[in-house]
Amino acid sequence: MPQDEDLLLAVLNSAPVVDGVRTEQLVGEAGKELATRYGGTGTPGELAHLRSVREALQDLIRGRADATGELNSLLEKTVLVPEATPTGLDWELVAPPHRRLAVRVVMAWSLVEEEMPGRLRACANTRCNLFLIDRSRPGTAKWCSMAVCGNRMKARVHASRKRESGPSS
Ligand SMILES: [Zn+2]
Repeated sequence: MPQDEDLLLAVLNSAPVVDGVRTEQLVGEAGKELATRYGGTGTPGELAHLRSVREALQDLIRGRADATGELNSLLEKTVLVPEATPTGLDWELVAPPHRRLAVRVVMAWSLVEEEMPGRLRACANTRCNLFLIDRSRPGTAKWCSMAVCGNRMKARVHASRKRESGPSS
């Protein structure tokens, strides 16, 4: 499911820092809107699983903590059922309804790590809580967005260089 890569990024990026404060989008109407956009229902239980999967994956991607235990308890009772089609096998995901969307997020994360190792990373701006999938050929993308964090960080580096090279009094 290629659109699940979008789902993965939408969930990872659902706690953006706005004016220095971490916000939460996986609650209430905003959470419901996000969940239903990707085929979920937006029930409180489903959103709770999405939030905990987000925290676990953010920790894993940042190498901050081994959150595989949380993922494994989410994945309990998850089964993939094969069905033959003229062009190969289709895999149907069977999971408890309120966990289904969060399981898809974990599957998308795993697929990205397998197909593009190291390309899913946190924005290099430490004050930013967004993540990116680097699809550039050299694999050097560092910012969630060049327009936002890229320019901000460049300006900061430029300012500190100017300070360092300024006249010493
Ligand atoms: Zn950023």
